[in-house]
Amino acid sequence: MGETIIEGPLYEARKKVYPQAVHGRFRRIKWAILGVTLAIYYLLPFVRWDRGPSLSNQAVLVDFPHRRFYFFFIELWPQEVYYFTGLLIAAAMTLFLMNAVAGRVWCGYMCPQTIWTDLFYAVERFVEGDRRERIMSDKRGWTLTHIRQTVTKHFIWLMIAWWTGGAWVLYFADAPTLVKDLAAFQAPFVAYLWIAILTATTYTFAGHAREQVCVYMCPWPRIQAALTDEWALNVTYRRDRGEPRMSVKKADQLRQHGEPAGDCIDCHQCINVCPTGVDIRDGIQLGCIQCGLCIDACDTVMSQIGHPTGLIAYDTDINGLRRASGKPPVYRLIRPRTILYAAIIALVGSIMLYALATRSSMSVNVLHERNPLFVLLADGGVRNDYTVRLLNKGPQRAFALDVSGLPGAAVHVSSVGSIDGKPAVEVGQDQTREIRMSILVSSTLALQRPANIEIKATDTVTGQTASVGDHFIPASQ
Ligand code: SF4
Ligand code: SF4
Repeated sequence: MGETIIEGPLYEARKKVYPQAVHGRFRRIKWAILGVTLAIYYLLPFVRWDRGPSLSNQAVLVDFPHRRFYFFFIELWPQEVYYFTGLLIAAAMTLFLMNAVAGRVWCGYMCPQTIWTDLFYAVERFVEGDRRERIMSDKRGWTLTHIRQTVTKHFIWLMIAWWTGGAWVLYFADAPTLVKDLAAFQAPFVAYLWIAILTATTYTFAGHAREQVCVYMCPWPRIQAALTDEWALNVTYRRDRGEPRMSVKKADQLRQHGEPAGDCIDCHQCINVCPTGVDIRDGIQLGCIQCGLCIDACDTVMSQIGHPTGLIAYDTDINGLRRASGKPPVYRLIRPRTILYAAIIALVGSIMLYALATRSSMSVNVLHERNPLFVLLADGGVRNDYTVRLLNKGPQRAFALDVSGLPGAAVHVSSVGSIDGKPAVEVGQDQTREIRMSILVSSTLALQRPANIEIKATDTVTGQTASVGDHFIPASQ
């Protein structure tokens, strides 16, 4: 067998995309989502939430120095990181559910890459004009106008990218204070570093890489291709109605002679508005982010030539096959996989809500002293020492310490008061306190082997308790 030799480059150079402005239902939805999501991203750090005098009043804050995460009324400690696991599972399932219902709807409408690229395209269009002007300007080369427009565009892009990085760091410190510190060049170096990194990445990905991120870099198109099925709604060209494509005039002539003519007039408007440069008439493809803009473009064309809209529309593979065999379309949003994804989201959400609603605002940890394991007292009694860590997620309060499982034992903590004969340890609001505690038993309590004990902390006002098990080592061990 002879070998087939492929000649020519293995790499295809990028063809620059010049998306044209488009108006319509999906474009309006995209503008609305863009406005809302960007407003949330840029303004959320300035939203306040009253948590009392000694805690941050920033509604959403990742507080690394104090190892806390605040989200409105929720305050998470490092040991509660499992909530993020639940959140990630719920987010992944939501993405799967969206995919099962409407394909890459996340990519087309909500992905940060799509949103910032859309914003950068809007700036480009504002400064350099629409598709035709931009193509002509690039063809003319570096004229004075082209230089001025290019400088203006890149300056605005950099300003947006800089503010994007600036907004990011505001989630990690008190926003108004950090803004003042940044302006006075008194903020920590790491804040400037992160602003620089995010400015560079936003400018590069949204201004230059654009659709290449979706086509070459992002793993989601590959994953979603493996997850989708024939019932998912995707932006689809209705081949049965559009083909054979031809000009309006020719189609009219053919129809007058009773010959078949498709509705597609091959105007290329669907390609011209596409932010990834895809021709959807070639079928569903990896480059299509399912943004629906080609639907708007084609609907406009169809309205202008007096044909029904919907030549390009959200539709399922199954309907393509059904139409080809003359059957009416069917839609099935509720099917096993959508039920499964929704059930997992509901289950994970319920577990997280339950865990949040019933989480304790206090806890106690104990570490038995290892050297020495016990101390033999002069009167024949035995003492064991422990390091006790009290964690208080509520307001300042006192915890009475007690031990059970060791009748007649006495609990001693130096330099603290006592309530009902039990040492009472004050712990400040939203703080942890570590103390050294001793448990003493008298010589009359002849223990032969280590005893299992339970060390209990009780809120002296509310009676709320937290306990932890440990053991007491007698002198004979
Ligand atoms: S916009 Fe519609 S009519 Fe024009 S080429 Fe695309 S599918 Fe055909
Ligand atoms: S083909 Fe249509 S839906 Fe797909 S990316 Fe292009 S404009 Fe968006």
